Amino acid sequence: MGNVSATRHFGPLDKPAAPAQVILVGAGPGDPELLTLKAARVLAEAQLVLYDNLVSPQVLAMVAPDAQCIYVGKRSSHHSLPQEGIIELMLDFARAGRRVVRLKGGDPYVFGRGGEEAEALAHAGIAFEVIPGISAAQGAAASAGIPLTHRDHAARVVWVTGHLREGCEDGFDLDWPTLARPRQTLVIYMGLAALPVLSERLVDHGLSPLTPAAIIERATLPEQRTLCGTLVGLPALAASEAVRSPALIMVGEVVRLHPLLHAHAQQPLAVSG
Ligand code: SAH
Repeated sequence: MGNVSATRHFGPLDKPAAPAQVILVGAGPGDPELLTLKAARVLAEAQLVLYDNLVSPQVLAMVAPDAQCIYVGKRSSHHSLPQEGIIELMLDFARAGRRVVRLKGGDPYVFGRGGEEAEALAHAGIAFEVIPGISAAQGAAASAGIPLTHRDHAARVVWVTGHLREGCEDGFDLDWPTLARPRQTLVIYMGLAALPVLSERLVDHGLSPLTPAAIIERATLPEQRTLCGTLVGLPALAASEAVRSPALIMVGEVVRLHPLLHAHAQQPLAVSG
C-alpha cells in the first residue's frame, strides 16, 4: 500500500464521557423561543449561571428560580470583569465541584470569546460541553427578512468582527479585498462603534457606495429595529437614529429583499429608513 493514512476520529468511544462540570450554553439572539431544547432544559435545571450582558432578560427568566445567577458581562463603558477574570471565576467554581452553566449570547463559538473559555477548560482538564445557539446573524436575517444567501444575489456570506483589535495593521483584523468582493453578503458583528471607518474602507476597496446595507438593532426582541440604506449612508443613519448596541450590520444586495420579506418575518416591528 502507498501512503494511505487513516484519520482517527476521537469521539465518545475513546474515553468515557465524564459528566460536564461546565456547560457553555448558547443563549441565542434574545427571543427565548429560539433557545435549543437542550439549552432550555439545562437552564431549567441550573444551579449556578454565569451570564453576559447579551443574554436577554427573557432568556434569563428561563433559569431555575433558585439558581445563583452571576453577571460577568461587559457593559459598553466599563468592564465588570476582564475576560481572564471570567475564566478564573468559571474555573474556581468548577474546581470547587460546582456545576457551572456559562450562558453566552448567540452561539458560544461565534465571536464573544467562547473559544478561549473552552480552551481554558480543556487545559485545566475540566469536563465541559457546548450547546450551540442561534447566532445573531441568523436571528437577525430571519427576523428582519434578509435571506443571507439568496442565490440571485449572493453566493457567499462572510461573518466578521468590526471590533478594533490592538496589534493589527490599521486596527482591524480584516482582509479588505476579500470583504469587498461582489455577490456576497457581509455580516459585521460589533461594528457599530467603527461603522464610519468600516464603511469608508469597504468603499476604498471597491464596494459601491450605493451597496444596500442595513443595521439590525436588538434582533429578535420586541424592540427590534431594522434600518436600511446604502453603505455610504449607513453611518449617518445610525447616528441620526441613535442606534445602540447590540446591533448587526449587513451589507449586500440581499438587503433589498427586506421591504418585501420583513412583513412576513418573525418580528413585524421593523422600521425602514
Ligand atoms: N456569540 C454571539 C456574538 C457575540 S459578539 C452570537 O453568536 O451572536 C457581540 C455582537 O453580536 C454584538 O456587538 C452585535 O453585533 C451582535 N449581536 C448579538 N446579539 C444581537 C442582537 N440581538 N441583535 C443584533 N446584534 C446582536
